[in-house]
Amino acid sequence: MLPSTPLTFADRLIAWQQKHGRHNLPWQVADPYPVWVSEIMLQQTQVATVLGYYERFMARFPTLQTLAHAPLDDVLAHWAGLGYYSRARNLHQTAKALQNNIKKTGNYPQTLDEWQALAGIGRSTAGAIMALGLDRFGVICDGNVKRVLTRHFAIDNDIKKATTDRLLWQLATDLTPHKKSGQFAQAMMDLGATVCTRNRPSCLLCPVQSTCLAHQLGDPTAYPKKSKPSKKPTHHAYALALYHQDQLLLIRRPNKGIWGGLWCLPMHTPSKPESLGEQALYELVATNLTLGASLCHTLTHFRWHITTATCCVGIDELKTITRCLQKWQIDCVWADQKTQATLGKPAAVTKLLATLG
Ligand code: SF4
Repeated sequence: MLPSTPLTFADRLIAWQQKHGRHNLPWQVADPYPVWVSEIMLQQTQVATVLGYYERFMARFPTLQTLAHAPLDDVLAHWAGLGYYSRARNLHQTAKALQNNIKKTGNYPQTLDEWQALAGIGRSTAGAIMALGLDRFGVICDGNVKRVLTRHFAIDNDIKKATTDRLLWQLATDLTPHKKSGQFAQAMMDLGATVCTRNRPSCLLCPVQSTCLAHQLGDPTAYPKKSKPSKKPTHHAYALALYHQDQLLLIRRPNKGIWGGLWCLPMHTPSKPESLGEQALYELVATNLTLGASLCHTLTHFRWHITTATCCVGIDELKTITRCLQKWQIDCVWADQKTQATLGKPAAVTKLLATLG
């Protein structure tokens, strides 16, 4: 009798996924639109958090066309709380580009390069759309996949280095089968999310345990290897709550940078002035401010310790402030509570507003 062919890494994972993987996620359909939206939401965000946002987003923008035709403010309002708002702006811009593509060609882009050329779509997202949304060959190598691979092959190199990234992409490409790349991608994502988890991998349940070097070495959580991050500095800021009667001043943040395009209280961070306009606004009202609640918000490069500073202004000051903001080309609105509720705001600002009553 001939010895049976050993099962490949992909065979073992796909068989495991069919029995034990996730099959009921709302974006698990062979359609590029939901796959793309979910992939963008899942960048930096856990499935459990994304589910509610995804349902609400798709209820409001059920098709590519509804998203492409929606005002950006509406898209940002449905993204508020998910963070990394450039993702929402790119999603909106790309929806318009995809709609044009469909008008011209009758279809979604069909190649990896075309997808990667669109705003906000990186190599792994493009691979996921190809494999899961279009049932073509596509490779994913996101954080979950990188964790599985560094453990399975006991890769000692610093995960943050470009050379490690290249190596992991090469491994992911070599391991992805040409015929079932969608099923393989789903299996890798499921394994990383449910079995080979960051802090407590369940190696006993793992379909590739027999060949996993990190398991054999007895310390899977030692992988991936990372150089120690430097401590984030803390910057203190005032969030100016300027009221005229029941109207509160909100300004729109510039598209580039923190909370890009969202409506916020004007901020003044003495150690890190972001906008000369906001700094000058602070100076206009500084002597009349009353300090209130604080919160700490962690961003990619620093921690922001924000304290509300309230001031009531009369009609003349309102006019002066509005004129100054227009001169500094800052979009502003004096909004009552009903209007505030319709504007896309970062979650940290919503929390600060709640403390103002
Ligand atoms: Fe991860 Fe353990 Fe499976 Fe290795 S055996 S891939 S460490 S869950």
